[in-house]
Amino acid sequence: MIITEVRLGRISVPLRVPFKTALRTVNSVEDIIVEIHTDTGHVGYGEAPPTGAITGDTTGAILGALRDHIIKTIVGKDVEEFEPLLQLVQKCIVGNTSAKAAVDMALYDLYGQLYKIPVYKMLGGARKQITTDITISVNDPEEMARDTINAVQRGYDTLKVKVGVSPELDVARLKAVRQAAGPDKKIRIDANQAWSPKMAVRLLNQMQDSGLDIEFVEQPVAGHDFEGLKYVTQRSYVPVMADESVFSTKDALELIHMGACDLLNIKLMKTGGLYNALKIASAAEVYGVECMLGCMLEAKVSVNAAVHLACAKNIVTKIDLDGPVLCSEDPVLGGSVFQEQLITVSNDPGLGIHGIEGITYLD
Ligand code: MG
Repeated sequence: MIITEVRLGRISVPLRVPFKTALRTVNSVEDIIVEIHTDTGHVGYGEAPPTGAITGDTTGAILGALRDHIIKTIVGKDVEEFEPLLQLVQKCIVGNTSAKAAVDMALYDLYGQLYKIPVYKMLGGARKQITTDITISVNDPEEMARDTINAVQRGYDTLKVKVGVSPELDVARLKAVRQAAGPDKKIRIDANQAWSPKMAVRLLNQMQDSGLDIEFVEQPVAGHDFEGLKYVTQRSYVPVMADESVFSTKDALELIHMGACDLLNIKLMKTGGLYNALKIASAAEVYGVECMLGCMLEAKVSVNAAVHLACAKNIVTKIDLDGPVLCSEDPVLGGSVFQEQLITVSNDPGLGIHGIEGITYLD
């Protein structure tokens, strides 16, 4: 199976409501699509969202990395020489994890098609179904309570609540969400690096003292501040998950060895795809550190690849793959089936995607 051509395109998928975090506000998903064509007629699909605020990868940067480095490296290569090919993608340019992720997942898609096995089975095959949380954007407490009621009515048992914009409001926000959700729903929160270490400890302890019952907090402090993350982990009763702090396997091992976090959030757009994400999952498994599989604001192509990884590995115990259910349309034919919180992986070979509607080709 020789790679003959890589086509690039764009898709635009509107969101049901604007997505707001401590870092940004977004109205639609505008992503780059990668199609890897082969001499056997098989096509592998990948997707890269420009999430400059987190990965530094803008649309222009993703296209530049693909056109000037990654595509030149892989055209003419044999998919059967899989591991060397995956390593070439990682080594041909520094950084640019989103562009690498899009190509890496398309290669896994092709390799699975070559041997007629779904990727989640190829990687471990732990289960066929997973349950995702849904994100409640950061707003004033009343609006967040309304969004919570809506999410509960849609059947979600776990809410991921964004906090960190004007931190003095965060305890009130959580009180409003907990009251709207009732006592049985799980509430996890994500500060997206917005707090200082001391502020984080104070707010988290206030939340617990108020009986808000927070499952865990994601990235309370700046991504680079491993010492600050450790400070919070040691002083808060709320478990701490690293997100913006963990891009590479080296980051994951350093955080684990420092005791800087209790949990890790793996996202394909940070790791550069499945190849490195698997290494983080294995490292975490060695130390008994449970992982969440998360996504950026992504459509179903790349989230579908994350679903395959989540279904492959038991160390992934928490799922935050709500990208597709936040969108008002689904341009993807085939792949995993998203029924609100329940996600069922496809048993078709590779990643199971048969096509994507509405691609604007860029070549
Ligand atoms: Mg996060």
